[in-house]
Amino acid sequence: MALIVHKYGGTSMGSTERIRNVARRVAKWVRAGHQLVVVPSAMSGETNRLLALAKEVSPEKMTSEAMRELDMIAATGEQVSVGLLALALQAEGVRSVSYAGWQVPIETDSAYTKARIERIDDARVRADLAAGKVVIITGFQGIDGEGHVTTLGRGGSDTSAVAVAAAMKAAECLIYTDVDGVYTTDPRIVPEARRLTTITFEEMLEMASLGSKVLQIRSVEFAGKFKVPTRVLSSLTDPLLPVAEEAQAGTLITFEEDPHMAMEKAVISGVAFNRDEAKITVHDVPDRPGIAYAILGPVADANIEVDVIVQNVGHDGMTDLSFTLGRNDLAAALKILRDQVQPHIKCREVTGDDRIAKVSAVGVGMRSHAGIAAKMFRTLAEEGINIQMISTSEIKISVVIDEKYMELAVRARTRRSSSSSRKPPEAGPHLDARRRIRALALET
Ligand code: ADP
Ligand code: ASP
Ligand code: MG
Repeated sequence: MALIVHKYGGTSMGSTERIRNVARRVAKWVRAGHQLVVVPSAMSGETNRLLALAKEVSPEKMTSEAMRELDMIAATGEQVSVGLLALALQAEGVRSVSYAGWQVPIETDSAYTKARIERIDDARVRADLAAGKVVIITGFQGIDGEGHVTTLGRGGSDTSAVAVAAAMKAAECLIYTDVDGVYTTDPRIVPEARRLTTITFEEMLEMASLGSKVLQIRSVEFAGKFKVPTRVLSSLTDPLLPVAEEAQAGTLITFEEDPHMAMEKAVISGVAFNRDEAKITVHDVPDRPGIAYAILGPVADANIEVDVIVQNVGHDGMTDLSFTLGRNDLAAALKILRDQVQPHIKCREVTGDDRIAKVSAVGVGMRSHAGIAAKMFRTLAEEGINIQMISTSEIKISVVIDEKYMELAVRARTRRSSSSSRKPPEAGPHLDARRRIRALALET
């Protein structure tokens, strides 16, 4: 008997029929002898609907007091789901009880709309499990130190589930969603994308941070920090699929470099993309020490996260500095720069562009192979796509391009990876494992 956490996303909970299927699936795991904690999201579209209602009433920029109310509103979506799922399980003859975040409690900081989980009290959950019940806990929400309801940011139910699994030391956290695992890139945009049977934690972290929304980035951080075995799999398969089969389905996030996995890794180059970003350029700034701080300091003080930063080589004592940031923050950052920073640093102009996209190639195979960046640039050049910014880490390369080319860029990249992976190079017995990995990496 193991303690397992299941998480079901919005589509998986999207109708009462789907919720009944979730109940059948959970009941099957219970009958196989496991203890289950289930963390559902709101029914699909519900969080958007709730936030749109709030916007109708209060269209202006949100104050902190208003953000508190946003969380109060958005958190209700998950409360409906847990109640419905508990009822559906009871109808299946399985004892179950549902809790809102505050009832567990799942304690968070007070950063409304993007709160971080700080502590989970597992006493109540353990008592219910010991009494033979399935415990259903709202995803996406918690409670801060003053008793205010908070939410964890869009897609936050993933984080709730992994955090609950970490707190309870669950044997595994199964993230059920509307695709059957993690793919080399979003299978809805690129039909040629391939499903990965495993992905390293580092690759998953990069994919999530680069905009692949299959898992919320904080859930991946939790999985890594607490070594929670986490698997992404489909909720749309037959709910009565044998447990032994389901337990091997989808994509498992791995933590250590097994040489067999590394071989597979080398041919895989995941491609993530993000069109939620915008770019700001500060033109003709005096090229002197402290200038990046003078520009980015006030932006950071306003709690605006920046991502790719590029400063040009100076000429005639002047330079340009560009950076990307969340599209939602563009207007606020432009205002800060134009009102507070421009008069002070005496730059010529501050411009914003919200029609950009970031496309990134990810793979631990890059560590051992230097040519991947050049291949990516060649692919983009062949498609006539201009690169505006480049940023790299040990296992990823990101480029910022015009938004209208995003799908073309992702497709071009994936076409190359999948056509080459169908024809792996000859890896004869004379090659040792490490060289074979390199040989395969060359093909990505
Ligand atoms: P849920 O509601 O279950 O949380 P999400 O919509 O948040 O589901 O995440 C699943 C979606 O993530 C998929 O439908 C898919 O379109 C998208 N996605 C983006 N990148 C990937 C990827 N690399 N692999 C699989 N799915 C991806
Ligand atoms: N319901 C929330 C959202 O739509 C949380 C989640 O789905 O993970 O963002
Ligand atoms: Mg999600």
